Amino acid sequence: MIIDCKSIAQKYKDMAKVKINRMWNEKIIPCLYIVQVGNNPASNAYIRGKLKDSEEVGIHAELIKLPENTPEKQIQKEIDDCQDDYMVDGFEYVCSGIILQLPVPEHINVKNIKIPDWADVDGFNKNSEFHPCTPLGVMKLIDSIGYNLDGKTAMVIGQSSIVGAPLCDMLMKRHCNVISINSSMERYIREEMLLRADVLITAAGRMNLITENDLDCKWNIKINSYENSGSCPDLIIDVGINYKDGKQYGDVSEELRTDKYNHCFDITPRIGGVGLMTRAMLMCNTAHVFTK
Ligand code: NAD
Repeated sequence: MIIDCKSIAQKYKDMAKVKINRMWNEKIIPCLYIVQVGNNPASNAYIRGKLKDSEEVGIHAELIKLPENTPEKQIQKEIDDCQDDYMVDGFEYVCSGIILQLPVPEHINVKNIKIPDWADVDGFNKNSEFHPCTPLGVMKLIDSIGYNLDGKTAMVIGQSSIVGAPLCDMLMKRHCNVISINSSMERYIREEMLLRADVLITAAGRMNLITENDLDCKWNIKINSYENSGSCPDLIIDVGINYKDGKQYGDVSEELRTDKYNHCFDITPRIGGVGLMTRAMLMCNTAHVFTK
């Protein structure tokens, strides 16, 4: 079945909204600052989503868009300035989160840019008070569909510091056995290990990384559908975002989202999947800073 990520993300946004509304009544408004350097088209799309969600839950989001060649020092100054609260028409605007939108142009080393841990609602700093939004969103998604991770085996493809690696940590904390894979893994070994996985999470950014050929599902003539043979995952979470001919795809091929796999596993949709959860977690983290 395709997982209804939209409803799940909405549930979390509604929770953030309730928290924030209480303070609006006291004329205090949370501010989320999004610092963007350059004009990356994918970033523009993500930022549009964040601005839309912010408006929906009652966060005053401000986009600080800087030219491509902005030096690190200037970016840092903009970030430092965001931390000041201000009053307008009797309303107090309180800094409740600062994001540096990635990717940044090549001349910038993100390690030189400091966002205070308390405002790091994207969870990028090592000592951030928050988990990174994407792995956190994946965990909330798994919990929301009632999937019990205890003692299960999860394969996580991708080991980046913002998605794959923190996700592995979070899964292990839930008593899950984790198979963590990066691009150096031979394909045939990955295929063998996939037979042992109950959960597959792909965060590689490689279109068609996982196809029908990688899974060992069994055709059931009675239900005219594949069924889970026990050696294919019962949950597939596709974090990857890839573009081809202007259309967005995940890492998992589209055929695995067709009806013939309905009885085999649960899977996130191509559009409106993990991305919505990532955004919802950003709203929750910002609401948390605001209300604590
Ligand atoms: P990244 O490039 O930093 O890391 C990719 C990881 O995948 C690396 O560890 C790499 O070794 C591994 N990898 C690449 N090809 C592989 C292969 N063939 N087999 C095994 N491992 C392979 O990327 P990232 O920032 O972690 O993002 C990963 C993907 O998730 C991207 O497509 C990105 O756009 C997407 N993403 C989605 C969201 C969301 O909210 N949906 C958020 C963040 C990232």
